[in-house]
Amino acid sequence: MARMIDGKAISAQIKDELKEKVAAMKAEGVEVTLAVIQVGSDPASSVYVGNKKKACGYIGIGSLAYELPEETSEQELLDLIEELNGRKDVNGILVQLPLPKHIDEDKVIAAIHPDKDVDGFHPQSVGKLCIGQPGFVSCTPAGIIQLLKRSGIEIAGKECVVIGRSNIVGKPMALLLLRENGTVTVSHSKTENLKEVARRADILVAAVGRPKMITRDYVKEGAVVIDVGIHRNENNKLCGDVDFEDVASVCSAITPVPGGVGPMTIAMLMNNCVESVKLQAK
Ligand code: NDP
Repeated sequence: MARMIDGKAISAQIKDELKEKVAAMKAEGVEVTLAVIQVGSDPASSVYVGNKKKACGYIGIGSLAYELPEETSEQELLDLIEELNGRKDVNGILVQLPLPKHIDEDKVIAAIHPDKDVDGFHPQSVGKLCIGQPGFVSCTPAGIIQLLKRSGIEIAGKECVVIGRSNIVGKPMALLLLRENGTVTVSHSKTENLKEVARRADILVAAVGRPKMITRDYVKEGAVVIDVGIHRNENNKLCGDVDFEDVASVCSAITPVPGGVGPMTIAMLMNNCVESVKLQAK
């Protein structure tokens, strides 16, 4: 049976480390503040926003909540971002996605000042990641790197296969694995012989958005399997992109859902908030 990679425990450890850092910063008179903007009242988004506020409270990061009505115009949102960009007492700005259809997400992401882009979605942050310069990194893939490192899993020289190429998970994941000297393959819906490609992996990251699609046929014996997916099954229970029971019998280590990648995303958002203070001080 595979070793479980415990994202809950690792994220708790990171949050405790950050709590100490933030306390030390406070002792020197430096505060950290995150502004979280939600447009509309999508229930899943409300849960995510609530969890982010809770994490801020635990670590000692100040949080400003902007809960805007569904009918907020794109211009009103851009004006708010502009105001927050200019405020010295706001270090990070996060706009909860998805936004209502009448608002252009790309325009909104690009409006956030790159030094406050704690989600790591701004084109400048993505570009810096691509050319190997320091900057904010999308939280979910950054969290996966921490999961691997803190579990003692070597990335350098390993065959890494990422299934999925979205801008927030698949692509930055591939770039980060490459930065860690992995040999990286990115696969997607047009990939031929996906099972064969996936079976090359020493480290397989499933970010495909399809419940339990990844069965043991996709996994080389002894591989490490990271499951990014989050879905509710027919019994309203959470499951991932990986068929956990089936895959756990062939792989060497695996992240569960829930309790794997999910908690790491918020921990890394908190880390980015703390880092933003350093970036702004420069
Ligand atoms: P997207 O839907 O944006 O991307 C899915 C990717 O998977 C696409 O690149 C798509 O390929 C590829 N894909 C879809 N079907 C197949 C298939 N049959 N075979 C091979 N590739 C396929 O999803 P996200 O990247 O945003 O998210 C992925 C999953 O991770 C979701 O379940 C999401 O809920 C979860 N998630 C979890 C987070 C967490 O904190 N744990 C954070 C973010 C996401 P193509 O590009 O060709 O269409």
